[in-house]
Amino acid sequence: MKIDNPNPIEWTFSERAQQLQSSAIREILKITQRPEITSFAGGLPSPATFPVERMKAAYDKVLSETGKQALQYGPTDGYAPLREWVANYLSTEDCRIQPEQILMVSGSQQALDLLGKVLIDEGSRVLVETPSYLGALQAFSVYRPEFKSVETDEHGLVPSSLEGVAEGARLLYSLPNFQNPTGRSLSLERRRELVETCARLRLPLIEDDPYGALSYKGEPMPRMLNMNPDGVIYMGSFSKVLTPGIRLGYVCAPLPLVRRLELAKQAADLHTAQLTQMVVHEVVKDGFLDQHIPTIRTLYASQCQAMLDAMDEHFPKSVSWTRPEGGMFIWVTLPENIDSRKLLDQAIAARVAFVPGAPFYANDEVANTLRLSFVTVPPERIREGIAVLGALIRAQV
Ligand code: PMP
Repeated sequence: MKIDNPNPIEWTFSERAQQLQSSAIREILKITQRPEITSFAGGLPSPATFPVERMKAAYDKVLSETGKQALQYGPTDGYAPLREWVANYLSTEDCRIQPEQILMVSGSQQALDLLGKVLIDEGSRVLVETPSYLGALQAFSVYRPEFKSVETDEHGLVPSSLEGVAEGARLLYSLPNFQNPTGRSLSLERRRELVETCARLRLPLIEDDPYGALSYKGEPMPRMLNMNPDGVIYMGSFSKVLTPGIRLGYVCAPLPLVRRLELAKQAADLHTAQLTQMVVHEVVKDGFLDQHIPTIRTLYASQCQAMLDAMDEHFPKSVSWTRPEGGMFIWVTLPENIDSRKLLDQAIAARVAFVPGAPFYANDEVANTLRLSFVTVPPERIREGIAVLGALIRAQV
């Protein structure tokens, strides 16, 4: 029976909640989901790669054989056989990772939030790349850090630029492989130099690596985790190698930190769905990813090439862009007089979308950059969409 309620609540949100902002990308995605729009905006993996039948068979097997366990609450740190699988996957000859170092999370995005919760106080200095993953900036912002952007170039983050800004910093958030948003990777020498510099400065180094396996040329680059497991916090995800809808990722961290993260996770959601973890373990345990990942690489490499070819043909000389060797994104730098947010309005009117670069900068936004994703658009539409963008840019140079 409903009561009369003449005085509805006037909500007083916490200061933290007042800080929350919707990501610029999520807002753009609302517009770009319209089918008539050719969208290079989304960060979505291609659904053509989702192993639906394999997942279906695994759900069926797990529910038939171990349904009672799969549907029960589970441990906060995760399903033990899957943690073991992850630990093996991350181990190298000279660096064994222990299952105790692994915490399963509900998408690696959750790991960003948990890391923020346990490492960042209001005003703590947090070092990020220029530009960096918007979702990390958003996750960390809730804890009100002081962001300091560190320099990057075509080889990724510049380790020497840490000198002078690392003093007292709580962490450095890095994206060494096919970075979101630029598609760039950190060179091998830089990886070593960065790990050494962070170790010397006693600066915790986060290695966020959802795209590392998607190297078009095959062999992924060595992980920084294995160069210094005592100083590197590694984040991995099943989103880009299996499917994002299952929301499953993991973090590998030194024991004192992983135990703190586990406490924070316990408070947040008790644990990641047991059914999901058991199904993913069933899917990956016999080497399925070894056959599956090459099919994703091949598809993305050809989509990427289609976009690069179209850009070579249609973009004027005054525009420059990255040539990724893996992952899902190309980063474009326009002539300085073009603001990519204004270009987006014109592009949407012409039924093409992308993500303007500005929200990817923690400090000193740059207006003339943008991110293109090529993985979900068929090559024919990639060519048409890039031709439209090229014409809009050429009209302004
Ligand atoms: N880190 C980076 C760099 C990403 O691009 C993404 C997804 N777009 C995530 C983390 C989060 O991935 P998920 O939560 O799906 O594992």
